Amino acid sequence: MANFNHLAAELEQLKKDGRYRPLTVWQSGSGSWMELNGRKVLQMSSNNYLGLTSHPELQKAAIEAIETYGVGSGSVRTITGTLAIHDQLEQELAAFKGTEATLVFQSGFTTNQGILGSMLGPDDVIISDELNHASIIDGIRLTKANRKIFAHKDMDQLEQRLKESGGFRSRVVVTDGVFSMDGDIAPLPAIVELAEKYDAIVYVDDAHASGVLGTNGKGSTDHFGLHGRVHIQVGTLSKAIGAVGGYMAGPQVLKDFLIHKARPFLFSTSQPPSVAATCLAAVRVLKKHGGGLMETLWGNANYFRGTLQKLGFDTGASETPIVPIIIGDPAQTMKVSDRLLEEGIFAQGIVYPTVAMDKGRVRLIITATHTRDDLDFAIEKLAKVGKEFGLIG
Ligand code: PMP
Repeated sequence: MANFNHLAAELEQLKKDGRYRPLTVWQSGSGSWMELNGRKVLQMSSNNYLGLTSHPELQKAAIEAIETYGVGSGSVRTITGTLAIHDQLEQELAAFKGTEATLVFQSGFTTNQGILGSMLGPDDVIISDELNHASIIDGIRLTKANRKIFAHKDMDQLEQRLKESGGFRSRVVVTDGVFSMDGDIAPLPAIVELAEKYDAIVYVDDAHASGVLGTNGKGSTDHFGLHGRVHIQVGTLSKAIGAVGGYMAGPQVLKDFLIHKARPFLFSTSQPPSVAATCLAAVRVLKKHGGGLMETLWGNANYFRGTLQKLGFDTGASETPIVPIIIGDPAQTMKVSDRLLEEGIFAQGIVYPTVAMDKGRVRLIITATHTRDDLDFAIEKLAKVGKEFGLIG
């Protein structure tokens, strides 16, 4: 008889391991305090870095676009799904990023899948940091390219991999700009230097660097002054930009190629016009106010991380608004996350397979919308729970 017993058995195992997580359903809002089961909870796990999800200019742009275009684009980009608002977004985004072109996808995930899945063939080699995001890993899996991994941020190993890659048609080095689980920054200047020495293409995924690093949030390439030396920048429109979507910023030839070859672009309906309009409004807000918003974001992040470190928490390699508290054991990690929720703090527990089995952590994400009172409330609760679990003395 057809059944799903094998799936139920896997779920049972997850429950035994303390890794089963039902969805958390929020009743309201996208600000710092969100309603959960009739109770206000301090949100410390959202990617809404700059608070743009509820920015009045973005909301107005979305409503106006619905009135102008309706709620959907009606098809994939290559048929009737490229509306003037998509085109305008790509033009202004390219001007903002300082690249020849941009191409917008429906999500950051499908951006990586679409680019990597189409541009690499059996004659190419891709060299990837071991801690790169799942969408990069899956994008690489879609290809017949030769694959090489280098240990996280290990430039000696990267050079070794490049040396072994001489005979291939093209060599691509791919890295996250900011690593999503640890909150550390890729050593992009060193990567670029090595790539130039071995004629490799540099590909950076700035999902967590867009709106967070660089002038007005232009990302890691701008942060390090590497314009023109990083060939492919991927950004998401789902985190600091406040909506949903992703994009490639790079050469026109790559854009033209992707329009013809990238499967998520070719075979999936484009962003609704209201979403494209929201993203366009966000780019304009960044151009005008990005610097000020980022100052608040970084002031908050540095204060919060510094205070946790003084209390004795292990914040790993964090150097950005992503601040993990490393706990280790997966079941213990989820218990800490649950206990924090009892105290009014939502801090997502992240465990294997997202991170290594012994590297469970609660991951806190600081935003520009947190007030100092919010942060002090979180610190007080973290200190209380941290002591209970022996994470600090
Ligand atoms: N790349 C990285 C590094 C990410 O952290 C994420 C989001 N988890 C993505 C890509 C995917 O972005 P999106 O949520 O827009 O699909």
